[in-house]
Amino acid sequence: MKESNTPIVLCFSGLDPTGGAGIQADIEAIGNHKCHAAPIITANTVQNTHNVSYFEAISPDIILQQAEAILNDMSVSAIKIGMLGTSETAEVIHKILKKNKNIPVIFDPVLSAGGGTTLSRNDLIDAIRTLIIPHTYMLTPNIPEAHHLTSDKLTSQNAAQKLNAMGARYTLLTGTHSKSKNVVHELYSELVCLETFKYQRLESEYHGSGCTLASSLAALIAKQTEPTIACQQALDYTYTTLKKAQPLGHGQLIPKRYL
Ligand code: PLP
Repeated sequence: MKESNTPIVLCFSGLDPTGGAGIQADIEAIGNHKCHAAPIITANTVQNTHNVSYFEAISPDIILQQAEAILNDMSVSAIKIGMLGTSETAEVIHKILKKNKNIPVIFDPVLSAGGGTTLSRNDLIDAIRTLIIPHTYMLTPNIPEAHHLTSDKLTSQNAAQKLNAMGARYTLLTGTHSKSKNVVHELYSELVCLETFKYQRLESEYHGSGCTLASSLAALIAKQTEPTIACQQALDYTYTTLKKAQPLGHGQLIPKRYL
């Protein structure tokens, strides 16, 4: 049988039953980039388009068995990590990353829901710092996440540089949470800001914008797109999905990822 050349992205993300964020965002964005998503659920969440009310982590043993089954069978070109939820989940994914060091990891360090509920339990922040960031090729924190993972006392630029120093090869710091008129995203590597990306600020709130960005980046990196170009294309795509986002519930809008 002739092997397909469709790039495969292995995703570790939470399940959001609104379909706005989490694994559904990954599947849709990755599919729209003509790649194939292999989805592994890290946590089940209870939520609507307003906020998350509860989550339950999936057993680390199931996650390990699922990942091994996929990695032994499919040729995976990138790994995308979203919501981890607990330090135990970070530990098992660390085990998987250690055995697959040649596959680039795109990590969206999800720490809380758009509505404010925390999505991180136990010693997750420490586990992210020590176990996941050192294996990360492209990290996509927003400004609060960058501070949370480093220190509130740093400027957001210094926080991004510190994340590079912790081991993230590239850090794309997303600027939505700043008070600036336009939204400015910054790409850092080896402590240097390589590129800035400026967009007109959109007025609405969205459910799954970070997931859309990180998973489209994962697809582009799976297709071996150069990192600065991958950021530009993933940000442009995400911006379009937000401009076309739909009010499918009564809270945040849901990005329209099938373009
Ligand atoms: N992943 C899951 C499962 C979630 O429930 C959420 C937010 O509720 C996120 C990720 C982060 O969503 P966003 O992309 O809006 O930051």
